[in-house]
Amino acid sequence: MKIYNTLTRKLEEFVPITPGKVTMYVCGPTVYNLIHIGNARPMIVFDTFRRYMTYRGYEVSYVSNFTDVDDKIIKAAAEEGVSAQEISERYIEECKKDMKGLNVLPATVHPKATEEIPSMIDMIKTLEDKGYAYRASDGTVYYRTRKFRDYGKLSGKNLDELESGHRSEGHELKVSGTEDREDDFDFVLWKPKKEGEPYWESPWCEGRPGWHIECSCMSKRYLGDTIDIHAGGEDLIFPHHENEIAQSEAANGVPFAHYWMHNGFLNIDNQKMSKSLGNFFTVRDIAARYDLQVLRFFMLSAQYRSPLNFSDALMESAKAGLDRIKNAVSNLEDLKEKGLGSGMTEDESKGAEELKRHRDRFNEAMDNDLNTADAVSVIFDIVKLANSTTREGASKEYAACLLDVILELGDVLGLILVSHEDVLDEEIEKLIEERSMAKKDKDFAKADAIRDKLLGMGIQLKDTREGVKWSRI
Ligand code: AMP
Ligand code: ZN
Repeated sequence: MKIYNTLTRKLEEFVPITPGKVTMYVCGPTVYNLIHIGNARPMIVFDTFRRYMTYRGYEVSYVSNFTDVDDKIIKAAAEEGVSAQEISERYIEECKKDMKGLNVLPATVHPKATEEIPSMIDMIKTLEDKGYAYRASDGTVYYRTRKFRDYGKLSGKNLDELESGHRSEGHELKVSGTEDREDDFDFVLWKPKKEGEPYWESPWCEGRPGWHIECSCMSKRYLGDTIDIHAGGEDLIFPHHENEIAQSEAANGVPFAHYWMHNGFLNIDNQKMSKSLGNFFTVRDIAARYDLQVLRFFMLSAQYRSPLNFSDALMESAKAGLDRIKNAVSNLEDLKEKGLGSGMTEDESKGAEELKRHRDRFNEAMDNDLNTADAVSVIFDIVKLANSTTREGASKEYAACLLDVILELGDVLGLILVSHEDVLDEEIEKLIEERSMAKKDKDFAKADAIRDKLLGMGIQLKDTREGVKWSRI
């Protein structure tokens, strides 16, 4: 498989540290609010990457954190008059509900920053011992950025250029209250508490960790000093991931991650969707209007590194596309049960051969830096093949063969394509049965009323030779 590695700016063949295994860390959300659909993009694309690697036979250890101590959380807590912990716990639970709706698998471990403080203190101590960290008079501990020779290797930034750029643009690099910070580029590893804020004891002062050190420590603790893949949105390349590299490599003395993957932004009106700009939809907003599978399908209709513009029209077209696949699945399920049981015809065997080629094309698309846009179009090709070759009926074997491949590839993308036999389905079947009885009794008014009732529930009926079929609209 080829992955675009932000570190080398090249498409590279993926070679794991341990054959057959993948260790992967994905920066998770700061939990002070419901997640927005921009935050959902890395969740969906890297979950898809994980599913694909698992499908290709890798054992994937997938770690994704919750940042549960942060200025924004403290501010939200103060506004509501509750503790920071109450805010973060509430939004971790809400985030998990959204993940479930999006069919994002739970990570192997979901560490929370507040539960990892001792390992952060340990790493900061190591950095201090090695001369990479120093304590300022107010108790703040800074990272001595210029001491790390490789600083800038991920983002391609050079400290001297950055500095003169900032000067010529008239930017102020110094942050208030940092009088004895040695250099403008030194960043915070530990900061003193302010009145009413959560804090922990440390060798430097009562306080809390900086954001970057959290990920360095959680990645080390659960996956080791060197991992295969570190991922997140492209806004994290600088300074977050650059700083993580500086901390981890200085402390551990080995490379931090072999591959760095970054998703492009989800935009709205061609502007980044973000909480600070106020131009966002939460996943919950979308769930009120669509099945969240439609949102997942929409996200996968683009390659993960491309910017993706959100619009109603694109969501409608994603919904129509997903329905097309689901309808094909429902037809095939029916044929698998009620089709001819005489083995495949010669034409069907040819169809099965074509199906294999499509499946290879799907893998090629995914192997090419997770090109889900091409992978989705292969699924549409399979739907076309299924629709055109089963129009006049099909053998059970052929229907099963098509169905298995669509469901298998759908599952790799995390798409739920089968209508589960839940209570709702039973209710629908019951109404269909009642309608058939009414038709038998020549009570056509009742039969039509039931059909309209089902339509109102979003269920469309089709009378076929094999009986009544239904699909969701
Ligand atoms: P945050 O809670 O802001 O730290 O973001 C959590 C994750 O969502 C990070 O990987 C961000 O890069 C990512 N993210 C935030 N906004 C967007 C967006 N508009 N499009 C894509 N990814 C985003
Ligand atoms: Zn991170």
